Amino acid sequence: MESRRQPDDARLLKALPSVDLLLHTDAAGVMAAEFGRGPVTRAAREVIDSLRTSVMEGDISEGDRESLLETAKVALADEMRASRRRSLKRVINAAGVIVHTNLGRSPLSKAAVEAIAEASGYCNLEYDLETGNRGRRGVRAEEMLCELTGAEEGLIVNNCAAAAVLVLTSLCEGGDAVISRGELVEIGGDFRVPDVMKRSGAGLVEVGTTNRTKISDYEKAIGENTRLLLKVHPSNYRIIGFTSAPSVSELSALARDRGLVLYEDAGSGALIDLRRFGLDDEPVIAESISAGADVVTFSGDKLLGSVQSGLIVGRGDVIRRIRSHPLYRAFRGSKIVYAALEATFESFLKGTMFEDVPTLRMLAASTEELASRTESAASELRERLGAREGLSIDIVEGTSVVGGGSAPAATRGNPVLALGDREISARELEERLRAHDPPVIARIEDDRLLIDLRTVPQEEEEVLKNAVCGAFRLG
Ligand SMILES: *Cc1c(COP(=O)(O)O)cnc(C)c1O
Repeated sequence: MESRRQPDDARLLKALPSVDLLLHTDAAGVMAAEFGRGPVTRAAREVIDSLRTSVMEGDISEGDRESLLETAKVALADEMRASRRRSLKRVINAAGVIVHTNLGRSPLSKAAVEAIAEASGYCNLEYDLETGNRGRRGVRAEEMLCELTGAEEGLIVNNCAAAAVLVLTSLCEGGDAVISRGELVEIGGDFRVPDVMKRSGAGLVEVGTTNRTKISDYEKAIGENTRLLLKVHPSNYRIIGFTSAPSVSELSALARDRGLVLYEDAGSGALIDLRRFGLDDEPVIAESISAGADVVTFSGDKLLGSVQSGLIVGRGDVIRRIRSHPLYRAFRGSKIVYAALEATFESFLKGTMFEDVPTLRMLAASTEELASRTESAASELRERLGAREGLSIDIVEGTSVVGGGSAPAATRGNPVLALGDREISARELEERLRAHDPPVIARIEDDRLLIDLRTVPQEEEEVLKNAVCGAFRLG
């Protein structure tokens, strides 16, 4: 590096604006008012450091000397804009994946949002308004959960992974759990069943094979140290063909006979039967309970369509053992969680979930409805972009994906918009839509940009169309 340095560099280095000088510019002042002095100061240090590196590496020449401060101001503004992009913001999901884990899974219902707003100040989270004494958190949400699932008791924690750790730790620490080899799965990024069991102190006893496990396999594996039979829904993974696994009722009979607990991790878990929407093998929680599962866990933000949470339901004595474990204190939900869940449960209890709860509304949207929305969006876009040569706006048969750990094959066929252009690649269009405010997330297939309206609420369609028009006009 030394050898590459030229005499000019020393003079250029001296001409570098100081962090202080940069911070005293009007532009930095405006940014400090918006982002705070601390973050802007940190960014200014980074900007000047990186300018210094550029000078030392010979990337800046004597001719740029006068504009060093200007360069620093532009870099500072870029950095602050980038930091804004990193913070949590609304996006439009035009990718057609209903429960999109990277996009925050289930959008909340209006009622859930209002309930969160109501609870966001002081609220009676652990206060009994009748007696003025301390109350227990989540009582009403747990009652509703029991009504919806037929379980004796329920418990709510922060996510289904926490629920699984809590159940296994409180019921099986130091003992063994028997599980089929076909269910030792990884779900989403980081939820790996064998690792969760190890962390929970439960010994893993594998039975059967990847594709077939019989009830007699479980029977033979039960030993002195066995406490629990575990059934895990493979969620986003399927073995098809020559397969079999015992039902919840067979496992329950065996567990009862041997004095063991049957725990089912249902994952997505449907509160109601969603088979008519192609979700053929999502366990319906009430069915698992009536088939004899002692404890069932599932997520609140997958097919339930509510806030991130882990729901635990089951037999009274089993749930009380779980509740009294110290880990429950570490995993319990916040007032925001209870508020959103109560509102969502209410929609299910009233029977209005297909109108109120966005995840279910999108799942149930009919092909006719989506066809007509897609047709009218296409004709409006053709009209607005008509003058553009080499542009194609077609309607093709696409598939929306349920996502969020439900069956990989769980898809809903529907027409989607396919945009192509002779000059702008699908990749470029996708990037431009992603850079829009609010960002629009779309997917690419065969060098065409696909826009699936199933996951775009009616009220966001206008913004989406404007974003698409904008993306083409840039080119
Ligand atoms: C999704 C899933 C989990 C993890 O749930 P989170 O709510 O994301 O923690 C655990 N088990 C199964 C079977 C799942 O499908």
